[in-house]
Amino acid sequence: MDINDFSADPETLAVRAGQQRTGECEHSDPIFATSSFIFSSAADAAAKFSETVSGNVYSRFTNPTVRAFEQRLAALEGATYCVATASGMAAILCLALALLKAGDRIAVSTGVFGSTVSLFNKILRRFEVQPDFVPLTDLDAWRSAVGSRTRMLFVETPSNPLGEVADLAALATIAREADCLLVVDNVYCTPVLQQPLLLGADIVVHSATKYLDGQGRCVGGALVTADEEIHDSFFNTLRTAGPAMSPFNAWVFHKGLETLPLRMRAHCENADTVARYLVSHPAVERVYYPGLVDHPGHALAARQQQGFGGILSFDLAGGRDRAWQVIDATRMLSITANLGDAKTTITHPASTTHSRITAKERAAAGIGEALVRVGVGLESPADIITDLARGLDRPARLSV
Ligand SMILES: *Cc1c(COP(=O)(O)O)cnc(C)c1O
Repeated sequence: MDINDFSADPETLAVRAGQQRTGECEHSDPIFATSSFIFSSAADAAAKFSETVSGNVYSRFTNPTVRAFEQRLAALEGATYCVATASGMAAILCLALALLKAGDRIAVSTGVFGSTVSLFNKILRRFEVQPDFVPLTDLDAWRSAVGSRTRMLFVETPSNPLGEVADLAALATIAREADCLLVVDNVYCTPVLQQPLLLGADIVVHSATKYLDGQGRCVGGALVTADEEIHDSFFNTLRTAGPAMSPFNAWVFHKGLETLPLRMRAHCENADTVARYLVSHPAVERVYYPGLVDHPGHALAARQQQGFGGILSFDLAGGRDRAWQVIDATRMLSITANLGDAKTTITHPASTTHSRITAKERAAAGIGEALVRVGVGLESPADIITDLARGLDRPARLSV
C-alpha cells in the first residue's frame, strides 16, 4: 500500500501513516532537529512566508517530524487535521485562545482533569469566559446548561477515576441544535478505543503524555479536527502564540503510536483481569470499571467504545488509613498520579489528584477517602494482583 493511504485499518495506520521518506532511504523515521529551514531563493522565501507556496519555514509551526506525528494521529482519529502542542494543557489553552472570546460561556463536564478545571475556572474567567459545570451523564442538565452565549461543550469520557460514560452521539446532537461545538478529551480511550469525531464531535483533545507515548518519556498534546476552518484557527494560534511540540518529542510519540493498538488491547485485558480479582476480594466494597456489567456506564461504553480502557478504581472497607495501607504495601506498583504507562500506577485520589477541591465537592463527585485508583500497565496481571494482595489480604491496620 501507499504509506500515506489513510483508509487502511488502524493497526496499519498506526505503523505507516504520516511517514515521509527522505533521499537517504531511511527505514525508520528521521528526526528533523532544526529550528529553521533554508529557501532556494529570495522569491521562494517570500512565497513560503505568504503561504502561496506550502513548505517549511520555522519549527514553531512547520517541522517535518512534528507533521509526521500530526498526520498519523489525525489518520487514527478518522480526521484530516491535527496540530501538535507542547503539552495536553497547551492543547486546551490553544483551543480556548483560538475559539473563545470575552462574553462566551463553555459547558464543561464535572470531574474533568484537575488542571483543566483550573484553566477554565481561574485563568479563562479573567478573560471573561464563563465555565458552567454539568454532570457528565445527565443529558437534561446539558440541555439546560447550553444557552445563547455557550460556544462549546467540553467533556472527558470515560471520567477519571470512576469511569462514568457520556453519550457522545446525544451530546453531539445537543451541541448541533444549540449551534456550538462538541470537544472531547480522548486521553483515556485513545483513538484505538474511541473515535469521537465519528460519533459527531467537532474536536478531539489529547495529552500525548499518556497512552500515545505509553512509556512515560515526554510531555505533549494535540488538537484533532475534520473541519478546515477550525484547523486553520488552531494553526494560526499555535503559529503566533507558540506552544509548539519539539521535534524530538514528536518523534517519540510518532514511534509510540506504532504500538498503540497492541498496547491498548493489552491494557484493557489486564485491567479486566485485575477488576475481576478485586470484585471477588472481601476487603473491596466496590469496583469502578466500565467493563464490569454492573457498572452504570457499561452498556453505553460497549456501544460507543472498542474496549473499556486501562483505568479502574475501587472502594475499600475502611477510610483513608486503609487506602494508604494498601498503597504502601505494594512493592512493584508505582505510587504516582500519572497514568497511561507500561508501568502500573496506584494513587489515592482524595489526597492527590482531587485534594484541591473541598471534601464536600469530593463527596458529590463520589471520590471517597477509601477510594484507590489503578492505571493498569503491561506487566503480567498475575504479578499486579500479587502486589495488590499484599495489602488487601492483610487485616486493616489499627488507627492510631
Ligand atoms: C494529563 C491530562 C491532561 C493534560 O495533559 P498534559 O500533557 O499533562 O499537559 C488533560 N486531560 C487529561 C484527561 C489528562 O489525563
